Amino acid sequence: MGKKSDTELIIGGIRIDKRLPDQTREIKMKVGNILSANGSAEVSFGNTTALASVHGPRQLFPRHLQESQTGILRVRYNMAPFSVDERKSPGPDRRSTELSKVIRLALEPAVFLDDYPKVTVDGFVEIIQADGSTRVTGINALSLALATAGIPMKDLVAACSVGKINGTLVVDLNGEEDNNSESDVAVAMIPNRNLVTLLQMDGMLTKEELMHLLDLAKKTCKKIYEMQREALLEKYKGEE
Ligand code: ADP
Repeated sequence: MGKKSDTELIIGGIRIDKRLPDQTREIKMKVGNILSANGSAEVSFGNTTALASVHGPRQLFPRHLQESQTGILRVRYNMAPFSVDERKSPGPDRRSTELSKVIRLALEPAVFLDDYPKVTVDGFVEIIQADGSTRVTGINALSLALATAGIPMKDLVAACSVGKINGTLVVDLNGEEDNNSESDVAVAMIPNRNLVTLLQMDGMLTKEELMHLLDLAKKTCKKIYEMQREALLEKYKGEE
């Protein structure tokens, strides 16, 4: 990623999976599928699927990790060994440790944990199929899982990837696009508050290109946010 690539990824304005530059893959969302969790959600962008579960608020042990004034959010991102074509060795590695932190930082501004001193809310993101943009798919899933767990939140966090492939600015990079991109950018937002909670960029872009991509990301995050709201409304419909 981040290098100019000879691989033809856009022909006649159409991407390898037949999408237009500003089009996402098919997005699917489902909430409440893990019965043993306090909250859960599954989100797919094409062939990338993230399953998120939330456990807590629960007392945090060992005690020295407890914060006396506030609760804490802990996040673990994991890619299943079967999630990629060549089996990924199981267990944590540097990438998953970094992504766990990145996902936590993207969600922390949206949760109110002040009313839960000494407790933890544990969020798990399992990537069960990986085809690009797993961190943003994980953020969308964990945001929904936190909401279904009843964790007080300012609002939902919506996330997407944008980038540059073959000189064209695009939305929602798949695995092959990500591997051959000139630049890829992960963005998470609280759309209604116009707040950006994550912005990570690989590769080179001009300032104008970056501004254009942020605009595309904003429009896409708004659509994702509406889908998240729909998924929640669908679950709680008829439960009053
Ligand atoms: P993100 O998934 O958030 O875009 P990366 O840029 O690190 O994060 O990864 C891009 C893509 O590369 C992933 O979505 C996945 O399709 C692929 N990938 C990442 N790690 C591995 C791995 N260990 N084995 C095979 N493919 C991987």
